[in-house]
Amino acid sequence: MSDIIQLLPDHVANQIAAGEVVQRPASVVKELLENAIDAGATEIKLLIKDAGKTLVQVIDNGKGMSVTDARLSFERHATSKIRTAEDLFNLNTKGFRGEALASIAAIAHVEVKTKQVDQELGTHIKIEGSTIQNQDVIATPTGTSIAVKHLFFNIPARRNFLKSNSIELRHIKDEFYRVALTHPSIAFDFYSNDSEVLNLNSSNLRQRIVAVFGKKINEKLVPIQEHTDIITIEGFVSKPEFAKKKRGEQFFFVNNRFIKNGYLHHAVINAFDQLLPHGHHPSYFLYLSVPPNTIDINIHPTKTEIKFENEHALYAILRSTVKHSLGQYNVAPVLDFNRDATMDVPYSFKDKTSVSTPKITVNPSFNPFESESRSKSYEKPKTAQWESLYSGTETAVDLQEIEVEADVVHKDLFNSSENEIKAKTLQVHKKYILSVIKSGVVYINQNLAHQRVLYEEFLTKMTIEDTSSQQLLFPLEITFNKGDISLCKEIQPDLESVGFQFDKIDNDSITLDGIPVNVNQNNVQGLFEELFEDIKNEIPDSSFSQLDAIAKSLARSLAIKNGTKLNSKEQEELLEQLFSCKEPNQSPFGKKTFITLSSEEIQLKFDN
Ligand code: ADP
Ligand code: MG
Repeated sequence: MSDIIQLLPDHVANQIAAGEVVQRPASVVKELLENAIDAGATEIKLLIKDAGKTLVQVIDNGKGMSVTDARLSFERHATSKIRTAEDLFNLNTKGFRGEALASIAAIAHVEVKTKQVDQELGTHIKIEGSTIQNQDVIATPTGTSIAVKHLFFNIPARRNFLKSNSIELRHIKDEFYRVALTHPSIAFDFYSNDSEVLNLNSSNLRQRIVAVFGKKINEKLVPIQEHTDIITIEGFVSKPEFAKKKRGEQFFFVNNRFIKNGYLHHAVINAFDQLLPHGHHPSYFLYLSVPPNTIDINIHPTKTEIKFENEHALYAILRSTVKHSLGQYNVAPVLDFNRDATMDVPYSFKDKTSVSTPKITVNPSFNPFESESRSKSYEKPKTAQWESLYSGTETAVDLQEIEVEADVVHKDLFNSSENEIKAKTLQVHKKYILSVIKSGVVYINQNLAHQRVLYEEFLTKMTIEDTSSQQLLFPLEITFNKGDISLCKEIQPDLESVGFQFDKIDNDSITLDGIPVNVNQNNVQGLFEELFEDIKNEIPDSSFSQLDAIAKSLARSLAIKNGTKLNSKEQEELLEQLFSCKEPNQSPFGKKTFITLSSEEIQLKFDN
């Protein structure tokens, strides 16, 4: 029998390869934009007609191509970006396969104009279905313009499979956003059917996110920043209260490349833990940098999937970084340098006498959970829940003041004309504090509530350097093993910031001559043991997470235990302290600190 194997002609091979690289107009947009970026462009213009079906054109002011390169760029496996296989492991360009232009030229009409800075005149090439139609010299600015027309003109089946213009345009926008968000310093101008869609100036990341998604997003962003040996994380997540029913803007970039990774996505979602209402999704814009030799981006031709060498460690770091940034934003705004000043609420009260006690008229049918209309301009619906406990009726105080002047409002809550009883709280089962509020009753878990109070207290102390401690008459020596001693040395500054004073640290013991005011000398050993244990179990990645872990651990160890009898003054104090917290609803470990029972709920029980 005769031989039957033949090599495919180039244009057929290119068409087949094109099937992998170019699925739709958006793929062309992505490849052309990435080439422009690899060429060092600082300004890039994207022009689209009929959702890219008629035209996709990218014009850049990058380094351009020589006459020979312009022609070679359309050959398969023609690339200036890698020379050896080793280069694959140290990529810092977007492209490297040398396939995109060859593939695109196999299935469209392509027109290139390009000029390098030291050339007087540029090169002009026209290609249709891999065949060069025309090449000449042209006057053109430095940089490159590539116009791709009539996509899939020679593969009608593919063309027929394209979706409606609105869907294809959606895909194009998605690709465009990814590129624009990866490179905030590059200016972009995006036109569709001759009208401008977006005009983005060179800016920083936050400004770029705002320019793409609109001004409103600015106040929703919590900055994320973490640096470790194996990963650097930067970017933003949305505050939990702005989570959306729809999967919103969720972007991961790894070494300046948009990627999808279900595992890392899970790490972020997990960090939001109990903070999200069911079925809601946070937005995130996270930029991860890892050493290039620890990732494999070569497993998919369109390169949005990626494999990491130390996935598990990255997961843990990402999760705890996001978690702590959220915590940091919620409870320690002093650390958020990008914060909006109007969000600032001091822990301590302002001059209390300057605000007159509001006048009360009672509306017995008011249900604070029914509407949030009073808090419409206020952006913390979670806390607005408890604030509304206090704002049952029209008062002279606006919400902003209510938050700061919590004790004034507090008085208002319990001195209302309707409710003249002296005892404002009642301890139930040595575990709960029951209190009557306008809309019903509230049950506070004394242990969890106190954890919250102490946690915020410790964080404040740690972050604003207001350290008060009780001096010990006789220095207190406690022995530990070597590992714990070295851990202790590591966190010594944090411990000092909450009021521990170290006299000396030896090989197997520490000596304290001062301890925080609320700590009992006899409990210090146990306290430290629990603390070291907690920190060992946390992922020790950032200084903030350590701070947070210490605050949490101390709060849990020192909080009033369930089973402890509290007199009415102590009960009231706890209640007052809790509702002066920034996040009174939750213990530092995310448990509910109190529940409310509305009068209506109670009434319903009688009605049944
Ligand atoms: P790759 O980007 O993987 O190298 P492409 O087919 O996308 O492959 O591009 C082939 C080559 O053409 C690139 O390596 C680059 O040298 C050149 N090139 C493509 N687009 C541009 C551009 N806008 N400006 C300058 N050079 C370009
Ligand atoms: Mg390319």
